[in-house]
Amino acid sequence: MIHIKHTKLANWANFPVTNATLSTPETQEELQEYVVRQDQLIARGNGKCYGDAALGAHVVSMLNLHQLLHFDAANGIIECEAGKLLSDLLPIIVPAGWFFHVTPGIKSITVGGAIASDVHGKNHPVKGCFSNWLLSFQLLQGDGQIITCTPTQNADLFWQTCGGMGWTGIILSARFQLMRIQSTEMRQLNVRAQHLNGLFEAFEEYEAWSYAAAWVDGTAGGARFGRGAVFFANHLEDPDRQKPLAFEVKPSSNIPFFAPSWVLNPWSIRLHNAMYNAKAGKPEHQVSLDQYFYPLDRVQNWNRFYGRRGFIQYQFCLPKENAQAGMATLLHRVRNSPDTPFLSVLKRHGARPKEAIHSFPIEGYSLALDFPRTSTIARLVPILDEIVWEHGGKIYLTKDALSAPKMGRIDPNAFGEAKFCSLLKARIAQ
Ligand SMILES: Cc1cc2nc3c(=O)[nH]c(=O)nc-3n(C[C@H](O)[C@H](O)[C@H](O)COP(=O)(O)OP(=O)(O)OC[C@H]3O[C@@H](n4cnc5c(N)ncnc54)[C@H](O)[C@@H]3O)c2cc1C
Repeated sequence: MIHIKHTKLANWANFPVTNATLSTPETQEELQEYVVRQDQLIARGNGKCYGDAALGAHVVSMLNLHQLLHFDAANGIIECEAGKLLSDLLPIIVPAGWFFHVTPGIKSITVGGAIASDVHGKNHPVKGCFSNWLLSFQLLQGDGQIITCTPTQNADLFWQTCGGMGWTGIILSARFQLMRIQSTEMRQLNVRAQHLNGLFEAFEEYEAWSYAAAWVDGTAGGARFGRGAVFFANHLEDPDRQKPLAFEVKPSSNIPFFAPSWVLNPWSIRLHNAMYNAKAGKPEHQVSLDQYFYPLDRVQNWNRFYGRRGFIQYQFCLPKENAQAGMATLLHRVRNSPDTPFLSVLKRHGARPKEAIHSFPIEGYSLALDFPRTSTIARLVPILDEIVWEHGGKIYLTKDALSAPKMGRIDPNAFGEAKFCSLLKARIAQ
């Protein structure tokens, strides 16, 4: 039976917190009936978007629709319900010699969430977004109809839905292609750079590596402005492997409660960055899939570290030709503000297929900055928005909570169904 409760709801950044009616169907039929009766609602996966995307007055949790429908282990094709978590697929696909072509830096997200945000990984120039490997999905529309979408069948709806933040309907199930792996180990190389230009140079110099993402010290100034380290990796090739493959996860620690707000202050953040920098460089070494792809998963509930007020992740992408200058301008502006980013991650992106109209990455670079939610951050975000806008960039809607409506370069009114509405959609439609 569909379970309905009134509750407070927030996503990963714990801001905003809203009052919602949360319904959790057990079957597709229950969901179908519920959707037809509702005037307005939004689907929710595991709430691992940061801002206000999976929030609204009426929210449908997809977490109980998590059946594995079919796994073609010979060809690496998987079909599952949309509420299936990537973390639940990994122990099934890895032992059979498969991994995701595209995975974000967290494994506890649903397949529906991966499609609705059209997530990217550390290999965007080579593999693109999740939609690149998506063969088909079933979409439940407001009138209860279920439509099969593929890149060639109902193609417009297919591309409106990939990166469409749940505004076209509810993804019920999906089929997608996996990639072959020979080992569960990765070869990793950490290249340290003394300044921002050095980071961009490292991305170019080591571009033959399959995966790359950089940590940037958002607190360093002077000659060390924008210093950091790029973490490159390749899958280990092991054609003569003897050992069976297994997806191994090291025991993780947990932050059991919200930290007091004084824990993260400009001084402690600077200290953390300096300590991180000291151990960031490392010659080639081996790490597990889990260590390379999901390092943040090793601390459960790390979002509580930011305290009850939560945090803001500001992630934006700039076109290649403006990226270096734009990032430098923006980071200087941040340094001159009272707000200090605790964590900053830089990634390189390749060209976007022209059909993938709502995918976040454009050819260039993206930077994600995690700020504690202070009393001043709401004044800083519009200033950052203007810098990103002037440099022809855009923000990632799945992270957004405070940006100006124009920043996603997306028109929510262009989505046919008014029924599927999140706080994000309502905010950017204003
Ligand atoms: C630590 C961390 C690291 C991350 N790293 C990356 C990264 O490297 N790359 C990246 O791209 N993203 C990254 N993300 C963001 C995350 O991958 C996306 O926000 C993802 O969409 C979350 O999936 P979810 O299942 O939790 O969906 P939710 O957060 O619940 O929802 C996200 C969006 O999907 C919609 N949605 C969810 N399920 C459905 C459905 N069945 N039908 C229709 N719409 C649906 C919701 O309405 C909402 O708009 C990261 C997040 C965290 C917390």
